[in-house]
Amino acid sequence: MTGGVTSSLGKGIIASSLAKLLQSRGYKVTIQKLDPYINVDPGTLNPYEHGECFVTEDGAETDLDLGHYERFLNTPTSQANNVTTGRIYQSVINKERRGDYLGKTVQIIPHITDEIKRYIKVLGSKKKFDVVISEIGGTVGDIESLPYVEAVRQLKWEMGENALFIHLTLVPYLSASGELKTKPTQHSVKMLLENGVQPDVLVLRTEHKLTPDIKRKVAQFCNVEQEAVIESIDVPTIYEVPIKMKEEQLDEIVLKKLGLPLGVSPQLEAWNDFLRRCKNPKQKIKIGLVGKYVELHDAYKSISEALIHAGAANEADVEISWIHSERVNQENLERKLKGCDGILVAPGFGHRGIEGKILATRYARENKIPFFGICLGMQIAVIEFAQNVLNMCGADSSEMNPSTKYPVIDLMEEQKGIIEKGGTMRLGAYACQLKKDSKAFTAYNRGKIHERHRHRYEFNDKYLKDFESAGMKAVGINPDTRLVEVMEIPEHPWFVGVQFHPEYSSTVLKPHPLFVAFVDAVLKNKK
Ligand code: GLN
Repeated sequence: MTGGVTSSLGKGIIASSLAKLLQSRGYKVTIQKLDPYINVDPGTLNPYEHGECFVTEDGAETDLDLGHYERFLNTPTSQANNVTTGRIYQSVINKERRGDYLGKTVQIIPHITDEIKRYIKVLGSKKKFDVVISEIGGTVGDIESLPYVEAVRQLKWEMGENALFIHLTLVPYLSASGELKTKPTQHSVKMLLENGVQPDVLVLRTEHKLTPDIKRKVAQFCNVEQEAVIESIDVPTIYEVPIKMKEEQLDEIVLKKLGLPLGVSPQLEAWNDFLRRCKNPKQKIKIGLVGKYVELHDAYKSISEALIHAGAANEADVEISWIHSERVNQENLERKLKGCDGILVAPGFGHRGIEGKILATRYARENKIPFFGICLGMQIAVIEFAQNVLNMCGADSSEMNPSTKYPVIDLMEEQKGIIEKGGTMRLGAYACQLKKDSKAFTAYNRGKIHERHRHRYEFNDKYLKDFESAGMKAVGINPDTRLVEVMEIPEHPWFVGVQFHPEYSSTVLKPHPLFVAFVDAVLKNKK
C-alpha cells in the first residue's frame, strides 16, 4: 500500500479497515509499516516530530500506526511489523562487515531491496497470516521511499497474483469552481508507473461524494478497473472507515484480485455496537489531559483513543481538555482545570512542564477529582505526595534533579551504566501482581496482569513505608523484580498511578479496564 499527492491521508486507517474486513471474513491478517526515515526506530524521535511512539508487547518502539493496527484488529503486533530504512541499512551493513556478501559490491539494488523484501516476507513465512498488508510510509515520489517501491515491484513480479498494489491518493475539491479534481491522482499514479508499479486498486480520499463519472475518468487514465476505484469520504470517526470500505466493497475487490474466496460475510456486529455507543452517549464528561506535547494531539494518540473506547463502554462522551503542563501555574491552576471531571497526567521525559503536572496532581488529590497518572504521571503523583504530604522538601525524580535529597523516583538498577539511548529503556510487557482490595484489582477483576512499559526510572522502594503509612499504597508489584507498578490512594474516590502504559493495549473490542474504570469513576463522581 502506497500513498500519493500528500501525506496524512490516512493510509494506516485504510490499511487497518481493509484488514478488519478481511479478518471479519475469517482471514488472518497483519499489517506492517515500512518507514523510509534513517532512525533505526522512532524511539529516539521527539513526539513533535512523529507523534507518539507506540510500544509492542515484545518491546519494540514503533510508529503510531501500529497502534491503529492493534486497535482495529485486536491482535498484537511485534518488532517485525515496523521496519525503517535505518534498520534495513543497519542489517545490510552488519552483513557486509561479517563478510556475508563474499566480496560483492553492496548496492541499493539488489542488497537493500532484498533486505526490504526479506522483512516483508518474514511476516508471512510462519504461516501465521493469510494476508500481510505492507504500508510504505511517506508519499510516492519521495527520494527516500524509492527502494521500497522498487522492492515491492520486484515482489509483485515474483508473487504474481498473490500480491497486489493499493494506492491511496487525494481528490481535492475546488470550492471556487465547485469541482473535484483528479489530476493530482493521475500524476501520482504516473510517478508509480515510472517506477514500474501499476496500482491494482485506487483509494481516493475526498471531502465530497465522487460521481461515477469521476471514478470512470480516474479508472481510464490510471489504467485501473472502474470497480477498483474506491471512494474514501471523510467521516466523523476513524472507526467508521471499515463500514465505508465495506460499502465500497474494498475487501471483495482485493480478495477477487488475489484469487481468494470471499469467505463468510463480514461479522461486524460488535464493531457496529461500539459505533452505536459512540454516537449515542447518555452522558458527557470532560477529562483534563495534562502533558507537555499537547499542541500535537498525535503525541497522545493511544491515550485519546483509549478514552474513546472507555467512553463507548460507559455510553459517555468523553471530551478531552488539552492542558499544557508548561502553562499551568499556581495562579491560573483553578481556571485551567475548571470544568474537568477527571484529570489524567500523561507520560513524558525530562524536566519541562513538571511543575504544572505536580500542581494539577495536587489539585486532583486535594479536591478528590478522579486522577489517572500514566508512567511519568504516576511518578509525578509520587513526587507530589512526597513534597506535600510527607513534607520531603525538594523530593524529586533523579531524572529531573540528580542531586535531590529525596530521590523518591530513581534510576532502575539495570539502567545504571547505559549510555546509548536507542532501544535501551525497560521496554515491553512485564507481569504485575495486583493487591486484592485495590481499585486496579477491581478494574481488571483479576490479580495477575501483563502490561507494556517504556521507562528508565522507578519508584524508590526505600520510601515505601513512609508512603504507605501516610495513605499512598503500592498495590501492583512485579513478581520477579519487586518493582512497584501501581500506586493508589485508597481514601480518594479514584486516584491511580501506573508505571506501565495501559493505553497501548486498549482496542475497540477490548477497551482497557483501567480506562473503563477511570471513566466510570469520573461519571460516578460527577453525580
Ligand atoms: N521519564 C520517565 C522514565 O523514564 C517516564 C517515562 C514515560 O513516561 N514513558 O522513567
